[in-house]
Order: sequence, then C-alpha cells, then structure tokens
Amino acid sequence: MHVIELLAPAKDLETGIAAINCGADAVYIGATRFGAREAAANSFGDIERLAAYAHRYWGKVYAAVNTILRDDEMEAAVGLCHDLHRAGVDGLILQDVGLLECGLPPLPLIASTQMHNHTAERVAFLEKVGFARAILARELDLDQIREIRAATTIELEVFIHGALCVCMSGQCTLSYAMGGRSGNRGQCAQPCRRSYSLEDAQGKKVVAERHLLSLRDLNLTPHLGDLLAAGVSSFKIEGRLKNKAYVMNVVGHYRQALDHLLAEQGGRKASSGTSTLGFVPNPDKTFNRGYTRYFVTGRGADITSPDSPKHVGEPLGRVAALGRDSFTLDAPSPLRSGDGITFYDRDHQLEGSTVNRVQGKTVYPQKLDGLAAGARVFRNHDHAFAKHIAQSRPERKIAIALKLCETSNGLALEATDEDGVRASAALVCEKIAAEKPERAKTSVAQQLAKLGDTEFSASSVMVEWATPLHLLPSQVNSLRRDLTSNLTAARAQARPVQEKSLIANHAPFPLAKLSYLANVLNQKAAAFYLRHGVSDIEPAAESGLDLAGRTVMTTRYCLKYELGLCPRQEDSHTENTEDTEKVTIRILDPRTPVSPASVSSVSSVLDSLPPEPWFLVDDEGRRLRLRFRCEQSYCVMEIVYKG
Ligand SMILES: [Zn+2]
Repeated sequence: MHVIELLAPAKDLETGIAAINCGADAVYIGATRFGAREAAANSFGDIERLAAYAHRYWGKVYAAVNTILRDDEMEAAVGLCHDLHRAGVDGLILQDVGLLECGLPPLPLIASTQMHNHTAERVAFLEKVGFARAILARELDLDQIREIRAATTIELEVFIHGALCVCMSGQCTLSYAMGGRSGNRGQCAQPCRRSYSLEDAQGKKVVAERHLLSLRDLNLTPHLGDLLAAGVSSFKIEGRLKNKAYVMNVVGHYRQALDHLLAEQGGRKASSGTSTLGFVPNPDKTFNRGYTRYFVTGRGADITSPDSPKHVGEPLGRVAALGRDSFTLDAPSPLRSGDGITFYDRDHQLEGSTVNRVQGKTVYPQKLDGLAAGARVFRNHDHAFAKHIAQSRPERKIAIALKLCETSNGLALEATDEDGVRASAALVCEKIAAEKPERAKTSVAQQLAKLGDTEFSASSVMVEWATPLHLLPSQVNSLRRDLTSNLTAARAQARPVQEKSLIANHAPFPLAKLSYLANVLNQKAAAFYLRHGVSDIEPAAESGLDLAGRTVMTTRYCLKYELGLCPRQEDSHTENTEDTEKVTIRILDPRTPVSPASVSSVSSVLDSLPPEPWFLVDDEGRRLRLRFRCEQSYCVMEIVYKG
C-alpha cells in the first residue's frame, strides 16, 4: 500500500504546530545555521518541541541543513546535525555531500532539490550512497519522474505548491554574481523577481521593463493523482518564509485533496489523526503570483507572471464608474471594508489600497491614485477570510475505541487507537449497584468520551458490566486520565522510527568532470566525488570564482517560446496556441487589450525577428546575455553574466 506524505514548511514552532494540526504528515524546518532560508532559523529547543508534538501523531520533522559549506564550517555543521538528532528530528535535508564524509548521526538523509536531482542516473546514485529520499528538481515532467521511479527504490519527494525557482534546481548563481548573496548559502536576493528590459543585438528594446524571469506559483492540485501513480510518496509545499495563515490554508487544502485521492486510488496517509480545520481552505485567498502547473504535463501556457512578482489577487471586474473618492465595478462586487485591492495604473505599475467602506455597489478605498475607468480591480486581501483563519482553532484527533469492563476488584478501561495501538488503565473500587441502571451506563459512556484537550477522540465507547455500577465522576475521570496517559506512552513506544546509516562505497557518480555548477565548496565534498570516480572538479562559484562570461542561470523556461519565437513552437504540443499568443502579447505589451478577436498574430506586435544575442538589462543597466538551446530534447535557456 502506498504511504503518502503531505509535507509542509515551518518557519517556526508555531507555524509547524499549525501545519500538523491542519493535517500535514511532516514538516521541514531550519535550525540556527546552514539552512537554505537564512531568515527562517530556529533554536534546538523549538525544534525539539515541534518534533515532540508531531510525534504524538506519528508525524515527522525534517531539518534543513541544506547550504553548501566552507571548510571552516564543516565541524559546526556536523555538530549541528548531531544536535538535531538529539532534538528528535526524523531526517536531514542536505545539499553538501561533504557532510557524508563526516560521521553523521543515524538519520535518514534527504537529498535537497539543490543537488539538481533531475535524472534517473543521479537519483540512482543517491540511493547507492545511502540517501533515503531525493527531492526532485522542480522542472521535471511526469515522464521524467516515472523514469526516475523505475531506476530507484528511494522515496521521491516532489514540490506541489508554492514559489518556483526559474533556474533549474541548484544551478543558480545569479544572485551571488550580482551582489554576493548566494542562493546555495541561504541568501538568495531573488534577482529573478526583478524587472528587466529585453534588448536585441543592436540594442533595440524588444520588451520594456517587465518581470521577464518571474514565474507564477506552482499549484499541482489537479495532478496529485498523476504524481501518486508515478510513484511520488512525499508531496511538498514550498515556503519556509510564509506566514502561519498561508501554511494553514494551503495545508488544509492539500489535506482534503489528498484524503479524497487516497480514498479513491487507495493508499494511506503517513501519520495519524483527522483534522478539523474550522475554516474552508482556498489557495486563491492567500499569497500567490497566479498559478501554473509548470512542466508537469509538458510546457504550460501559463508559466510567467511578467506584470508583477507580488500577490495581485483574485480578479473582480473592471471599473465601471469612477468618482472623486469611490468607484463601482462592472460586476457584482464581493468587496467589504478591510479588504485589500490592487490595480494597475497608467504606467502598468501595481498599486494597492484598502477598502474603507462599501455602500451598495460603491466602493470607497483609502486612496485611488492611479485608478482609471476600465481598469481591472483585484482583491489581494479578503478580510473576512483572513479573520476566519486567524480565529479558527484547527484540531487534530486520533480516533480511539474505548471499552470499560469489570475486573475482580474494580474496573478496567481499554483503548485501541486507529493504528492498532492498545493501552489500558485499572480502577480498584467497591462495586455498588447503580440505582438507575440505564442512566448509569449512558452517563459513564458520556463521561469517558470527554477526551477534552488530549490528542484523542472516542470513535466508540463500550460498557461491559454484569451489574450497572454507581461510580463517582472523580473515579471515571481518573480512569480516563490514566488511560490517555498510558496510550500516549504506548504510541511513543510503537512509533515507527526510520534509521539509516551511510554506505561508504565507490559507486561511480554519473559524471567524470564537474564544473562550478556542482557546488563543491570544501575539501570533504571534493574527496567524496573523487572517491566516486570524478577526476576533474572545479570549485563552486562561492569560492570566489570570476563569473564574468559564465552561465549563472539555466532554465527550462524559454523566453523565446514565451515570445512566440522559439523554433520548437511549430512542432510543439502546446494544447492551446491561442493561449500562448495571449501570453506573448501580455509580455510584450500589457496594455494591449487581450482578446482573441483583437489579436491576429504575434507578428502583428513584433514585426521582425530581433537579432541575437539578446540581453536582459536591469534598472541599474547591468546586462545579462541570453543563450538559447531550443534544439535539445527540451528548450534550455542560459543566462550569461556580463556576457
Ligand atoms: Zn525554446
């Protein structure tokens, strides 16, 4: 039977607990140092508390130790891994293979997506050297995932939701090249979210100031079944910097979707208990840049969000009438006071405001500078929804069947939980026959089912006694308390724990030569690769490499394709050419009214093929050269620094 894990990000202890309560089977969290999100660091005490909480439900906590390391940091990083083991974590997410040479604790090792886990050969290698799991590259499609599945037996983890790196996983040095902040060391400055102009070889501006590298956010809700069938066992939500409401909403959404799927396709969830959310999750209501399925079923026509890297929100309609301090929409408006709205001004810059009040159809925002009649209005903050989430108290309960029976000197209470774990508690008492036998039975059953703030809820209560007995509430309560405490202890004993030790061998790495893109920053990592048959190793960019003229980003996203100019366009299996053209027009000129009727073809906007090479130019005039390899089995675009 498939065991399926829903894996959620935990910025901190509070968010982690909320994720578990909303139904996450596991969470991942950063420690004090060496996490790929430097801004999401946590103390060992908090990680220990989170692990203890998750373990009650047989949930798991993985610690992200996924930066690349300098030689002088190795000892501290290894020490940190041992501290995390003592804190009770269930696995370590690593990027730096140097750590594998250093005597790690016996925890399952998870190969970070930063290790560029994109081929069957690479993932098979990870299995041979002892990794328990690989987090696959985000840009893979279902066929590639199936191919990897066929080549290995280790667990496969796949991103299903959240922000996307436009660069192939682990191959990005753009942030480091542009300002010394390395994504491989948890400091990505997100240059891919900035605005760029596209210039051709003659310096002619083809596209002016658009977010040409900024992708929409991933949402694979419709493809969970495909991923499950392809052999994925862990479904990951991105976002260790996301707030608690976001995590609750998205976890709640995927818990429901996965439960539905498991009921339909078979399989079981990786932890115990059932969550009651207290709100109706809706991923459109919290942060997103618009959603894409990215490449999971081939190139989607909806990959980029060139207008803005921000949360634009749900489209509501267009401004029908504009007053001095108010507006009305051309559609029924759901806006209420406290909501946040966004719109694009005449220069197509995103503006935002808060709704002060609504009178009938008339909306009074705090400010409406830049709003014009006909402009589209979006809602990026639904106040009622946010309040609802903030006030909800999600609960997660493990179902137990209770049985009360007589013993020679009193009573015994037994429980069997949904995992088959059993516990009991005894009460020595004088047996006094109850005056009202039927009522005695009902009332004792009701009292036993009051499991209050424990992690349990009673699915059934059986009372088996020869003569109905008179019991004091204090006797029943003490029996129930002893039972739940014994059951918690029995569950802790019975909790399945995965141990793993590394296999030191000479299994050959799929490549004999490694460039700086292999991210080897320390002697131990070099020793690891040498032992695995690599003969030629270039140090990582972060060693101080001069990146001028070198590739700092490699993407499956093809800007030529987005502009309708990729040679693959002709033979491509894009399901909807019209959609692609709409996207193209949107990138070229966002102010062009987009409707199929008004757009005859891309060439009506772009009259000749801009000569190559093309450059992306940022607002400080820095130039990045684009190199296209569209002739490969799929498009590959490279960005060359100071090319
Ligand atoms: Zn292409």
